[in-house]
Amino acid sequence: MSNLKSFIFLIILINLFACEQNNENVYTIDDVTFDAAFPGARLNKIEKREKDSYIAFIKPAFEPVNKSPWFAFGIESQVEKEIEITLNYGAYKHRYIPKISSDKKSWEKMDQSKIEIDTASGEATLTLKISPNKIYVAAQEVISSHDTYEWMDNLLASHPEVKKIVAGKTVQNKDNYVLSLEKENVNNSIVLIARQHPPEIPGGTIAFKHFYTELLGDTERAKLFRKQFNIYTFPLLNPDGADLGNWRHNANGNDLNRDWIDFSQPETQTVRTFINNKVEAGKKIQFALDFHTSYSGPYLLVLDSINVEKSNGIIPNWIDGIESNSEFRVEARPRSQDLPYCYNWFYNTFNSEAVTFEEGDEIDREIIVQRAKVYAQELMKTMTSMEY
Ligand SMILES: [Zn+2]
Repeated sequence: MSNLKSFIFLIILINLFACEQNNENVYTIDDVTFDAAFPGARLNKIEKREKDSYIAFIKPAFEPVNKSPWFAFGIESQVEKEIEITLNYGAYKHRYIPKISSDKKSWEKMDQSKIEIDTASGEATLTLKISPNKIYVAAQEVISSHDTYEWMDNLLASHPEVKKIVAGKTVQNKDNYVLSLEKENVNNSIVLIARQHPPEIPGGTIAFKHFYTELLGDTERAKLFRKQFNIYTFPLLNPDGADLGNWRHNANGNDLNRDWIDFSQPETQTVRTFINNKVEAGKKIQFALDFHTSYSGPYLLVLDSINVEKSNGIIPNWIDGIESNSEFRVEARPRSQDLPYCYNWFYNTFNSEAVTFEEGDEIDREIIVQRAKVYAQELMKTMTSMEY
């Protein structure tokens, strides 16, 4: 009986806790409502400072953390008016130019004249016009796991040759997908991995999508590439982190791109198991790309052994192709092969050439799209013209 009582008490507690959590994500002060109850949202607390002036507290889900102060919330008011919101990141400093949207689909960079940055405190004060039509303010475009999977399913509708496979589960027991375009008699393969770090939308989602779409395209080069190479793609390796609005981590508080030696997390284990099985079945990973974003991008992280004899030289030939055939200049930054990064695992384990593809936080999105297309075309050209 006492067990039953404590069980009922526990259930009541859990329900109370759930309700409180729910309420905590929507805040109404006077006639203004702040919404942080959607996937990808982050607003930890909001306080009124004076009439039409608020302070928004933004905190990381886990620490220590790289300075990636992600925020995302909606605002609406009963009447149209102008308000001020100060973004306070505690010990961290403002980084991203806020993006504004009315539908979470099309986003615009906020006018710089409406942003005042206090370099000493790291706070940024935004002047915003609000109304009964909700607007969203976020560090970058908000792209949830649902959004990415919707894009993926739409793309696959016209590519029945690509198989969507549940390759594993996340910490929060979500499906983690791999898209497999594979031919039985083809062994040479390429791997794409996207968005280990939730806020890194420019490279991790925008560049990745256009790069991958180019590999699946109707150009003669893409058709030839698909005859010669299998393509294994992890379109969103950290869906939990993306939906939780994490600055950097997965739901366990682990930085996935520091876990490619320990493999302590289900998301990295998913990739390892899938790729190991392919290699055991005779597939050869010739190249891998891992898509990210940095404040100082664009650049490629490359192997510090870029010119070693055992590499095929895909990377230097590819860079040469990009620079010869486009306006884009490639900054290649060598990194130690001992670091626990994804691309190093491919090189150290399978002798694959690999890069981390870094875009920049505030690079014009149209340029990101163009770069992704050119890089994809030039990579296909390089890889189809080489002997293995
Ligand atoms: Zn990253």
